[in-house]
Amino acid sequence: MQQMEAKRVLKSGEFLVSETDSKDVFVPEEFNEEQLMIAQTCKDFLETEVYPNMDNVDKQDRDLMKSMLKKSGGLGLMGISIPEEYNGFGQSFVTQMLAAETIGAGYSFSVAFMAHCGIGTLPIMYYGTEEQRQKYVTRLATGELIGAYCLTEPGAGSDANAGKTNARLSDDGKYYILNGQKMWITNAGFADVQTVFAKIDNDRVLSAFIVERNFPGVTVNPDEHKMGIKGSSTAQIFFNDVKVPVENLLGKRGEGFRIALSILHMGRIKLGANVIGAAKKAINDSVKYANERKQFGSLISTFGSIKHKVAQQVILTFAAESANYRLSKDIDGLIEKYKGEGCDKGRATIDGISHYAVEAAILKVYGSEILDFVIDEAVQIHGGMGYSAEMAVEKGYRDSRINRIFEGTNEINRLLVVDTAMKRAMKGDFDLFGKAAEAYESLSSLAESRMDHESYFQEKSRYIRNFKKAVMIVIHGAMKIFEKNLVSEQEVQNNISDMISETYVGESVKLRVEKIESLKGSAAAGLYRDMLDVFIYDVAEKIRKAALDAVYSFASGEEAERLASTMMALTTVAGVNVKSARRRIADKLIEDNMYKF
Ligand SMILES: Cc1cc2nc3c(=O)[nH]c(=O)nc-3n(C[C@H](O)[C@H](O)[C@H](O)COP(=O)(O)OP(=O)(O)OC[C@H]3O[C@@H](n4cnc5c(N)ncnc54)[C@H](O)[C@@H]3O)c2cc1C
Repeated sequence: MQQMEAKRVLKSGEFLVSETDSKDVFVPEEFNEEQLMIAQTCKDFLETEVYPNMDNVDKQDRDLMKSMLKKSGGLGLMGISIPEEYNGFGQSFVTQMLAAETIGAGYSFSVAFMAHCGIGTLPIMYYGTEEQRQKYVTRLATGELIGAYCLTEPGAGSDANAGKTNARLSDDGKYYILNGQKMWITNAGFADVQTVFAKIDNDRVLSAFIVERNFPGVTVNPDEHKMGIKGSSTAQIFFNDVKVPVENLLGKRGEGFRIALSILHMGRIKLGANVIGAAKKAINDSVKYANERKQFGSLISTFGSIKHKVAQQVILTFAAESANYRLSKDIDGLIEKYKGEGCDKGRATIDGISHYAVEAAILKVYGSEILDFVIDEAVQIHGGMGYSAEMAVEKGYRDSRINRIFEGTNEINRLLVVDTAMKRAMKGDFDLFGKAAEAYESLSSLAESRMDHESYFQEKSRYIRNFKKAVMIVIHGAMKIFEKNLVSEQEVQNNISDMISETYVGESVKLRVEKIESLKGSAAAGLYRDMLDVFIYDVAEKIRKAALDAVYSFASGEEAERLASTMMALTTVAGVNVKSARRRIADKLIEDNMYKF
């Protein structure tokens, strides 16, 4: 492992067996003027158009949401990820993620907007013919049309390919006749164009169709009454002998499932960015309240318990952000590579994004769960007021919950992390199994111990290498016992998945702090080191717990004890004065009265 080769763009999952140089990662501290200007435009839109209308739109006012979406289209916000020839601005993936992050602070507007710009528009952009792109994408990019994505059915949720919606070619060969029902469709109440997934005749796999709302036979139910994101229209759509012109088949017959999955990978990564915006908003609400509310004669922001909470909110958000932008640049690198090889722009983009399926699932699970933590603590910091519908954090708390359910539930995504990494390794993308077997052979001497004159970052790199070895040992041990049946051992897969995710995010934080130091000098990096120290200290504990849970689930007797003591060694890190480190982080937040890290 020490001699691992440094590469610029790693394959999906390859980080497990490789080391990355901090100079090769992108960090938010490197955003350029143009990127910051785009983010500011998104922020201004939320301040002027979204927040003042939030209460009304949350009364399920479909017209108001539609008009807000159209306004954002008029300002060009819907075209950020669309190439210029289709009325967009063709921004890089990193910039798209920054825009997604910023809009993520927009509650139900964010859900409607992201559904339109992502799953509602991009299937046509990435898989459409030139005619389909000209007809639909050019108008979706400006908000003239609003889009939706119709995959889920009453009997087909996580098992998306189980849908019963059916299409058959008309006798004259001019139309597909579509029949079926979709549910939980975001923007259903007003979407003009829908990508609908259905099986042609008795096909085993889905095909995709572009369906216009005003085609006869399309009907939409009233909106569902939901726990949160109330302003986002969510409804069932029925297709009753709908005549879809044959030229509206998207991609090839039977390609729908692949389209659906690729678009979901993209949706997951963007959700990872959205939740950061929502988390920063919750942190800002928390610190502002804590800096105003007095109890026992003091501002509550002076209390250690509150400092602990806000520091944790900041550290976890910073961590998710580090992983997001690290991945975004890898995606941009791969897209450019594919374009250089002569790939069509749209296909290069979706192939570049969906290649990173392991990391996409990590960002989705990690981001949605840290947001739940951050917003939960935001409510707590507000005390009784946090429970009042008058406060933004109350809405944030309810709105946050959906993120663990849509774009593939977190259960499905946890399984995907492991399954995809293993499949990619089996395909030969990287040598996971050889390295894991090697590590297993030398269990007792596996944990790297402190070197003489080890620098701060060398120490952290050693921890990360040890975490990766822990992941490999658990994978190898579990495969040895369960063999192909590992797929039925979801609890163990979940343990492995959590180990992989925490390792990826931990490494991302380390790389970011190292890069910040190289950009700004060590004097400016003190607080970032605090974040890294606390994060790695906490992550080691989480990885250890997941590793031991897995080991005791597949091994017993002496073997279990041998593996467990290796896991203890691999997850041992130096002690940290977490109280003081967290207080320093909290003090900066409290002084700035907003998230400025
Ligand atoms: C507000 C909202 C908006 C949505 N927007 C859209 C949209 O625009 N377009 C669209 O097509 N869909 C949309 N969805 C649907 C959403 O993607 C599904 O709800 C989600 O995929 C889960 O499917 P399900 O609800 O049928 O749950 P189920 O699949 O029935 O899952 C129930 C539980 O079982 C677990 N589970 C299922 N299978 C497994 C397994 N193999 N192993 C372990 N655990 C498992 C799940 O994780 C979950 O905890 C939306 C849903 C909501 C609530």
